[in-house]
Amino acid sequence: MATQRIDMHTHVFNVRYLPVEGIIRSRGVPDLIAKGLAKLLNARTGDDIEPSAVPAALFVAADAEAPVMALQAQTLDEAVSALAAGTPKELADDPDVRAALEDMQRVSAQELRAIAIDHVETAGVQAQFSALYGQLANMQAAPGIFETGAEYLRWFQFLTHSERVIMETLLTTYGNDVHLFIHHMMDMEAYYKHGRCYYDFVTDQLPRMRRLVNAFGGRLLTFVAYSPDRPNDLSIVRRALDDADAAGVKFYPPNGYQPDEARHDALYQELVSRDAPIFTHCTPVGMEAKPGSGANSNPSYWARVLQQFPALRLCLGHAGGDEPWFGRVPWDGSYAAQAVALAASYDNVYLEFGYHEDILDASVRESFIVRLSGLLGTNANLAKKIMYGTDWHMIEKINNHQDYFHAFEAAFADARLAQYADGFFYTNAVSYLRLPAFRDTRAGIHGADDPVVANVDRVIAVADQMAVENT
Ligand SMILES: [Zn+2]
Repeated sequence: MATQRIDMHTHVFNVRYLPVEGIIRSRGVPDLIAKGLAKLLNARTGDDIEPSAVPAALFVAADAEAPVMALQAQTLDEAVSALAAGTPKELADDPDVRAALEDMQRVSAQELRAIAIDHVETAGVQAQFSALYGQLANMQAAPGIFETGAEYLRWFQFLTHSERVIMETLLTTYGNDVHLFIHHMMDMEAYYKHGRCYYDFVTDQLPRMRRLVNAFGGRLLTFVAYSPDRPNDLSIVRRALDDADAAGVKFYPPNGYQPDEARHDALYQELVSRDAPIFTHCTPVGMEAKPGSGANSNPSYWARVLQQFPALRLCLGHAGGDEPWFGRVPWDGSYAAQAVALAASYDNVYLEFGYHEDILDASVRESFIVRLSGLLGTNANLAKKIMYGTDWHMIEKINNHQDYFHAFEAAFADARLAQYADGFFYTNAVSYLRLPAFRDTRAGIHGADDPVVANVDRVIAVADQMAVENT
């Protein structure tokens, strides 16, 4: 039987959930052009959530690999054409879009005076849009995430799909063996100049995510994003957890906050009292709101938090980043080494291995196996702390990302790791998420026949079965 699994780290939001103008500006695109681009991208984005057909049942036999939908353009030119073709022609008359087009011409002509563009005939609209979308390729690289402007462009193109299409792509890409996906929301609004999102976090994003979870029968559960700079943030988190709309809380230091700031103490206190999970980004890089803000993810800050809140149910996403795990940078002193030390010392600290793209490179996989098996051999606690995750759709731009799972499966088929496979791919996530408690809260509100409850029940049953088989 194919390996059953839980994917602890996915993202299914689209452009409308992001402060897209602010993100584009922060990467060096001129203000007027960034504003016009945000208009185009948001206007072009789909808005359906519910699938037209009943979603495929869980636990269907996975015979042939399902074909992957070709929704993502493979080249920059394809992405530009796809974006332009899907943009309503009327955007050519939007003042922000016209200002962006004028600014683009002015910049390319190196003129300082304003240019007023003429009326654009419908026949010429797509060419104008293409030229504007092409400006996304000028975005400055973000180390470790977007190495080129073209990568941003392709990512944005994918992110103009509706939540339904994105979710269906996720299901088609990673298939029937994934019983549960965990989606992590982002709340980036306060950290970017011109940071408004098309979908307001409170009034649009949260209700839409609730609809998505319901529409796909609990194949996906969401973590609610925390933002210390949002009014009433603790109330938002409480409500999402109380009502079982969210299974945990997402914490994102590259936005510009440090885990050990006193202003987060109320959140930690609340989570400890509920024993609810929190998931943090943990690599030296990331979607940095300001250059260097990825360093806020340093596990040494979490070490201080854990001294004060030792019971915090914390997952360190990316397990400190993949490079030390694959021998690409020294292990000693790395975020990865520090993250492992925390997971080994604290009962409720876990590690997740999303965006370890080096696993796809068979030539360095051996160093991963040696490193991880060595650590597991000397720290008995760690075996229950490691969890599989992908960080899809962030990894969507890696050419052979569809093999991500198979590469990890191959590593855990190795005799040195095989005994840890069920924990890594499945049972540790069930423990970390405290799924039985989530199930009970959810059933208390929606009844035991709620499809989300039913899916969570089946996941718990699989984990129980694995526990029996492994004793
Ligand atoms: Zn992520």
